[in-house]
Amino acid sequence: MFKALVVNKDDEGKTHAAVEELSLDQLPAGDVVVAVEYSTVNYKDGLCIGPGGGLVRNYPHVPGIDFAGTVETSDDPRYAAGDKVVLTGWRVGEAHWGGYGQKARVKADWLVPLPKGLDARQAMAVGTAGFTAMLAVMALEDHGIKDGPVLVTGAAGGVGSVATAILANLGHQVAAVTGRPETGAYLESLGASQIVAREELNETTKRPLEAETWGGCVDAVGGEMLARVLGQMKYGASVSAVGLAGGAGLPATVIPFLLRGVNLLGIDSVMQPFEARQRAWQRIATDLPLAKLEDMIVPATLADLPSLGRDILKGQVKGRVVVDVA
Ligand code: NDP
Repeated sequence: MFKALVVNKDDEGKTHAAVEELSLDQLPAGDVVVAVEYSTVNYKDGLCIGPGGGLVRNYPHVPGIDFAGTVETSDDPRYAAGDKVVLTGWRVGEAHWGGYGQKARVKADWLVPLPKGLDARQAMAVGTAGFTAMLAVMALEDHGIKDGPVLVTGAAGGVGSVATAILANLGHQVAAVTGRPETGAYLESLGASQIVAREELNETTKRPLEAETWGGCVDAVGGEMLARVLGQMKYGASVSAVGLAGGAGLPATVIPFLLRGVNLLGIDSVMQPFEARQRAWQRIATDLPLAKLEDMIVPATLADLPSLGRDILKGQVKGRVVVDVA
């Protein structure tokens, strides 16, 4: 028997999350059983712990879109008992039972071996947010980061914090956009050399091109801010579009693409192929300063998840929550 956070739906369609005891034979089909050590809390987890947001298909459900732990048994030759693994994406924790249990049974295809230099707790401090930040930085590198500061929008959030720390550690000047001036010292501690107030970039302009300012951009915000940023990119520079914290629209013109050769790069973390995942996790182990990661960690347990799920949906979670599942 093992413990898991189980979400049940009652006859009136209301969901209830509580820690329950489960047995191995209740786990869904899969070829690897993992003893989960740590998980984390994402916005999607908030939805899946609560009313589901259309993501959960069947109840009872075990949420948790990310986990890291040790392989217990494997029917797949790529993994053996004792291997350290991490999982993000593939709709685990939504369509399939996820990481909020002390055991998880999943497809071997979904797992990535933990790289040397990163333990399960650190991997969950990174989580989907940090993994996506790394993918965004790698996409900028593939297209060439130009001279000048690299802009990070939504900088005090999960994706933005990790992108800031990685880019600064790689030697880039980082301009961090935040709507929370009180996070300035935190962002500087992560390596930002310039803090840009959100209002400066939230105002719309009729000018499709402004002064060439940014050598690259990791954008967690989308909407009007992304439209504005496109017109401020240096010639040939790229923007990794990661998120929609400020809106899903893109009220832009094509002028930055046509006259400045600006690239808009789409970043998806959920369906990334194995090789790209492995490369990103290896880069995280070498290029993300772990002492800075440590400063972002907020510890939690399975029992804390119902309230953390509500908090994250209200935008009240700060830093990177690391759930000790064991
Ligand atoms: P967080 O909620 O931790 O961070 C988002 C940040 O965006 C906030 O901290 C805030 O930063 C800023 N922000 C919030 N609202 C607004 C607004 N109205 N206008 C401008 N800025 C705003 O989320 P994550 O970092 O985990 O995720 C960021 C985005 O990336 C989300 O939209 C998420 O859905 C998406 N995402 C996409 C993935 C993918 O595969 N493409 C994977 C993971 C996340 P500040 O306080 O500094 O202003």
